[in-house]
Amino acid sequence: MAAPVARDRAPERIVVENVAVATVDAEDTEYDSGHVVVAGNRIESVGPGAAPAVDNVVRRVDGTGHLVTPGLVNTHHHFYQWITRGLAQDANLFDWLVALYPMWSRIDEPMVHAAAQGSLGMMVRGGVTTAMDHHYVFPRGAGDLLGAEIRAAAEIGVRFSATRGSMDRGESQGGLPPDFAVETTEAALTATEAAVDKHHDASFDSMLRIGVAPCSPFSVSTELMREAAVLARRKGVRLHTHGSETIEEEEFCKELFGMGPTDYFESTGWLGGDVWMAHCVHMNDSDIAAFARTGTGVAHCPSSNARLAAGIARVPDMLAAGVPVGIGVDGTASNESGELHTELRNALLINRLGGHREKALSVRQALRLGTYGGAQVLGRQDEIGSIEPGKLADLALWKLDGIGHAGIADPVAALVLGAAAPLTLLLVNGRAVVEEGRLTTVDEDTVARNAGREARRLAAIMAG
Ligand SMILES: [Zn+2]
Repeated sequence: MAAPVARDRAPERIVVENVAVATVDAEDTEYDSGHVVVAGNRIESVGPGAAPAVDNVVRRVDGTGHLVTPGLVNTHHHFYQWITRGLAQDANLFDWLVALYPMWSRIDEPMVHAAAQGSLGMMVRGGVTTAMDHHYVFPRGAGDLLGAEIRAAAEIGVRFSATRGSMDRGESQGGLPPDFAVETTEAALTATEAAVDKHHDASFDSMLRIGVAPCSPFSVSTELMREAAVLARRKGVRLHTHGSETIEEEEFCKELFGMGPTDYFESTGWLGGDVWMAHCVHMNDSDIAAFARTGTGVAHCPSSNARLAAGIARVPDMLAAGVPVGIGVDGTASNESGELHTELRNALLINRLGGHREKALSVRQALRLGTYGGAQVLGRQDEIGSIEPGKLADLALWKLDGIGHAGIADPVAALVLGAAAPLTLLLVNGRAVVEEGRLTTVDEDTVARNAGREARRLAAIMAG
């Protein structure tokens, strides 16, 4: 008898059919009833009607009553805050920070791992396929905090843009954080470079990218801002920070640097197509023009900005000027829900309120912010963010025939304007990480229990 024939190496395929499709491609192509074929970790085809005949199909999904969209992309977060939620409930940004810094400076590796699992688990079960984190608190002796986040993302199976943040401007240097919560400039730069060297994967299929992310003008020295930009460009990685979040920040910059935040960023090398900033609430016309001219991206965080009474970012004006804009959950100490799909709705509603304009942001623009816009902001628009052949298979299959959504005239409106839609299936890199609304890769009850335990442990340390 002949030796067995070598196994067929053709990629395994998943076919989704009878499904409404919102591709979020350049033309916003949609199909009332169409199909998506996934081969391995790539999208092979998308179109109207039934799928073409293909072999090696390991799974066929009947998408009747569902909408398939690109997986959602989160562009700003602080995972560790998952275990410090519900505090400083009625404070503005600076008061909230001052209240929480002492607690944050006591975090350690098990706390950050549990918090990252909670943050990631909640986002992923709401359709996020690419997560981002901005971690900037590194207490001495706390363990490998960035490594704990990276481990949590790998366990859950989500694509991850991690950033190595930093703070070196403590109170004694005119900054907002207490001195015990900051690093030295040199230590921050050394550790950031080491994180890039150790973890950054620049490949098309990458599940892990690293960015350089000093925290904010009021917690970081000018030297660290400048040197961080030089480091990121030398390494070919992206730059991220908080910018123009509040009136108080603007006043701080004017007092300390003699200019507003955007001019300060420009003077330190921080405007460019490899930079994105969280919030950008207090931007005048010339600030928006500078972002558009340089290709600097924005992570719009509507719930956090509302929770901290920061104001309303001028997203419609940014989009009209050509600024890349994505959506961010922001840290969950200022957005306890930690969900991104509900932020699409919040972005639309808040921007209509802000502009007093019913056409400020459309339902489809909101979906684009949460998908393709996020991919652009993270520098991954060629790989993710829309359903197009050749792109990575990051797909969300939303169930829209249940009690919350059945009968809503337009599936995209049902997703954006309706209740938080349940997920039937979420693929990340072609792998199912959510099935029927539940995470497949980790036990949700264990994640919840661990987060509760670590939150109590941190509270006990503070009390003791
Ligand atoms: Zn933030």
